[in-house]
Amino acid sequence: MRISIVGAGPGGLTCARILQRHGIAATVYDRDAGPHSRDQGGTLDLREDDGQLALREAGLLEEFHALSRPEGQEMRQFTPAGVLADRFVPAESDRFKPEIDRGQLRDLLLDSLRPGTVQWGRQLVAAEKPGRLRFADGTEVESDLVIGADGAFSRVRPAISPALPHYTGISFQEARFDGVERRHPDLAELVGPGSATAADGDRGVFAQRNSGDQIRVYIMQRVAQNWPGSDDTDTLRARLETAFAHWSPKMRQLITDNDGPYVNRPLFVLPVPHVWAPDPTITLLGDAAHLMPPVGLGANLAMLDACDLALALLNSATIADAVRSYEKTMLPRGAELAAETADAPEHLLSAH
Ligand SMILES: Cc1cc2nc3c(=O)[nH]c(=O)nc-3n(C[C@H](O)[C@H](O)[C@H](O)COP(=O)(O)OP(=O)(O)OC[C@H]3O[C@@H](n4cnc5c(N)ncnc54)[C@H](O)[C@@H]3O)c2cc1C
Repeated sequence: MRISIVGAGPGGLTCARILQRHGIAATVYDRDAGPHSRDQGGTLDLREDDGQLALREAGLLEEFHALSRPEGQEMRQFTPAGVLADRFVPAESDRFKPEIDRGQLRDLLLDSLRPGTVQWGRQLVAAEKPGRLRFADGTEVESDLVIGADGAFSRVRPAISPALPHYTGISFQEARFDGVERRHPDLAELVGPGSATAADGDRGVFAQRNSGDQIRVYIMQRVAQNWPGSDDTDTLRARLETAFAHWSPKMRQLITDNDGPYVNRPLFVLPVPHVWAPDPTITLLGDAAHLMPPVGLGANLAMLDACDLALALLNSATIADAVRSYEKTMLPRGAELAAETADAPEHLLSAH
């Protein structure tokens, strides 16, 4: 079988690993210049029911537990005035959804693959039936199966579905704080070992402890898609200071005292349900199939899809049977969870 996976995110790499572990070769193509050419972003919680289940199938669960942070499951909820309103502290033995940095997860999966499995710097321009890939460098690849694991703005998806992601009306600005124990001790204490949130109905913050003495904060606002219209850090900081002027100085530190620039992350979702007519040569997984709001599910589902698809390919007589059986499970599951989380962006902003 010539299997091409487009996208070296959690979904694509998990799929390649489970296939390889059972003797099926797959090539992964990613537009990144290399595994560390781009900051992978913050931390992910991987749940027992999906992300960890896929890692078990990949033979990587023990290594995950050695790297992950169960104490990261702690959750604190503050008011905009800085009063602690609610707190969840996990039991010492709680391993339901420990946190792991995205970069650590990518390295864990990459190190488990045979050298050369991932081809970096391969930006897909388009996929065509049956199983043809066209890359920005002018090359083409023919495959028996193309797996689109290329995220929200998938270039594989248009080959089987006309659906396009739409803006939710809510954007995140990601802020990073380095060396927090020494440089930002007040914030380190406020956020603790896990997450801290606050919201006032129109805007909010979601702060997360990462490994390496780092904290990332997602500053959430209901704004036009093109807000702020400038990526100059000082301009942006001044606009955020105005928007959050009524919050306490303690909470405003999370918004203004960051190191380095903000990263703009407007939230997009795919229509629900997102379905397509089965094609024996092309399928999708993860965000490419069911992009939903970030409520701690996306990476977990991408990995569960990957696991289901790999196992279907191992256990079916033909690729067409495998795709049919995988989509029969994945499509309704994705649609149900996307419907359940459709209001999540509004909940993220609702006042506590
Ligand atoms: C702010 C934020 C916080 C989140 N927090 C969590 C969390 O705590 N837990 C959780 O489970 N989920 C979380 N999510 C969701 C999660 O990040 C995604 O659902 C998950 O990464 C999807 O995995 P994927 O493998 O489908 O795609 P991606 O992780 O998006 O990977 C896609 C890969 O495809 C590559 N690619 C893209 N286009 C092309 C192309 N044209 N050619 C070649 N390669 C291409 C990219 O370089 C990338 O490596 C969060 C999302 C956001 C925005």
